[in-house]
Amino acid sequence: MRKELSRWYKVHKRELPWRQTKDPYKIWVSEVMLQQTTASAVIPYYKKWLNLFPSMEALARASRQRVLKTWEGLGYYQRAGNLHQAARMMCRQNACQVPNSYEALIALPGFGPYITAAVLSIAYGQPVPVLDANVRRVVMRLAGLRGQFSPRLDKILLERVRAIFPARNGGDFNQAMMELGALVCRPRNPSCLLCPVQRFCLAFKCGEQEIIPTPKKRNIQEIETVVAIIGDGRRYLIQKRPPHGLMAGLWEFPGGKREKGESLRGALQRECHEELDAEVKVGRLLLKVRHAYTRFRVTLFAFECELTGPRRFKKKNIRWVFLKALKRYPFPSGSAKIVRFLEDAGGRSERGRPIG
Ligand code: SF4
Repeated sequence: MRKELSRWYKVHKRELPWRQTKDPYKIWVSEVMLQQTTASAVIPYYKKWLNLFPSMEALARASRQRVLKTWEGLGYYQRAGNLHQAARMMCRQNACQVPNSYEALIALPGFGPYITAAVLSIAYGQPVPVLDANVRRVVMRLAGLRGQFSPRLDKILLERVRAIFPARNGGDFNQAMMELGALVCRPRNPSCLLCPVQRFCLAFKCGEQEIIPTPKKRNIQEIETVVAIIGDGRRYLIQKRPPHGLMAGLWEFPGGKREKGESLRGALQRECHEELDAEVKVGRLLLKVRHAYTRFRVTLFAFECELTGPRRFKKKNIRWVFLKALKRYPFPSGSAKIVRFLEDAGGRSERGRPIG
């Protein structure tokens, strides 16, 4: 099976930029980006990242804001924060080198079992099997194991992978398994007739490839958020999210989630009162944006608002920023769309008066 898989991988593997290098730093960056994100979405980000931060040292020296700005649009922002923090730790403790031991890597921020195994096997050629969603699905189907992904099942799957893991070129084997899952043994409609390991596959033999693993019910939540576009004629009011939690450290326009039974305008007044400790007059609806992150589908309503009290804020996380300077700040995708809207309009309404 290993031979068939390896032959197939040599011919069919995609020429991805991170496959042209053995530099542990670059492989680490690519593996972090590839978590929860497709290869085609990652490519432009990977190139831009290495342009700005060609080495671990360059990344460690960069500001948190620049790192988050470079990541803007890729989602799951904690990954960028972890890359930055881990780079700084490696520069302090290991002369800006990625360690080559499991114990040293797993202790670093963002290094779970998957990233650790991927870096050790691909960059350092160590015989450490990886288990990502693609490999899990391939192994479950090959072995005819029904059920859903779970930590208990992971132990069994790892044993199965170890049983077929080669003594040499473990990195290629790991990548071949992941590539097979991405291109052939896909979650839906696997191309079994083109599969190089079909004759070893129990799920195929039993016609169960579509029901292994058991499809997961996605619990998508619809939410509505309201946002205040507050201007002073030249600048806009933005605020920084807390340093921990969802989208930590990103900037956004003041606002938040509409509670059940609240009107949109009422929700915005409450949010501004809670976040800015200020009262606002809510004006016209400027923009409605739909976007999605993790398991949320969000409809965002952006209203033009006017402060009815003082314009000065003592908190450091609240800032007045010129339209041109907004692009230097990292925003989550909903707020980034508002920034583009304001830039396209030049900060002015059709009648020429400043928006906000
Ligand atoms: Fe996956 Fe089908 Fe190949 Fe089995 S035969 S490993 S189900 S693509």
